[in-house]
Amino acid sequence: MPTFSHRLERIRSRITDACARAGRDPRDITLIAVTKTKPVEAVQEAADAGVTDFGENRVQEAVTKIPVITGENLRWHLIGHLQSNKAKLAVEHFALVQSVDSADLAARLNRLAGEAGKILPILLQVKLGDEDSKSGMDEAELVNVFRQVRELPHLRIDGLMSVPPFLDDPEAVRPFFRRLREWRDAINERFPETPLKELSMGMSHDFDVAVEEGATMVRVGTALFGERNYP
Ligand SMILES: *Cc1c(COP(=O)(O)O)cnc(C)c1O
Repeated sequence: MPTFSHRLERIRSRITDACARAGRDPRDITLIAVTKTKPVEAVQEAADAGVTDFGENRVQEAVTKIPVITGENLRWHLIGHLQSNKAKLAVEHFALVQSVDSADLAARLNRLAGEAGKILPILLQVKLGDEDSKSGMDEAELVNVFRQVRELPHLRIDGLMSVPPFLDDPEAVRPFFRRLREWRDAINERFPETPLKELSMGMSHDFDVAVEEGATMVRVGTALFGERNYP
């Protein structure tokens, strides 16, 4: 079993290679270590190895880890569906909420961020095709929600996030990644005053392809921490 540092090195070099193929700068890609189901010891090991960005998909689980993990400039990303009764905790603990999938949720987050006296960075989560994921907006909803959310003073939309279907062949996911980039570019053409930069896409088995297609954030769990054991 390779050590965590070896696996981290390996992933970073795959990101660098994908950037070379696509003529991109590796510094434009943020590696998010997805720590769901993993114990604090594993998360702390990652922070000690230099990982700064962590992804969790359940607020309840995340808040047991966020206060105890130590390191400089750590940023926690919420990448799973957010229930409205957890929105306050999410605003308190996360640097970026990637899973905003409705105007209602955005309005609630805006109100809570206002009460907390902050501006909360978010991504809008979209559904690109026939993926099994229940969360996410289609393209028409996206434009509609974007138009409303950009008026909210306590939210800042940084970009788009998606969880495309899991397909054994990473090449088969490429069209989905490309579509997410095209949707972002289309929004930026329509609303050039508030350009979206981030594209959060790509997981353990397909992040190379995602980087080739423009990902600025890749969310990697299994390839860093090993298989997850769900209780
Ligand atoms: C679990 C999860 C990941 C990481 O998946 P791996 O295949 O383990 O890399 C990425 N994104 C989201 C939204 C997840 O829930």
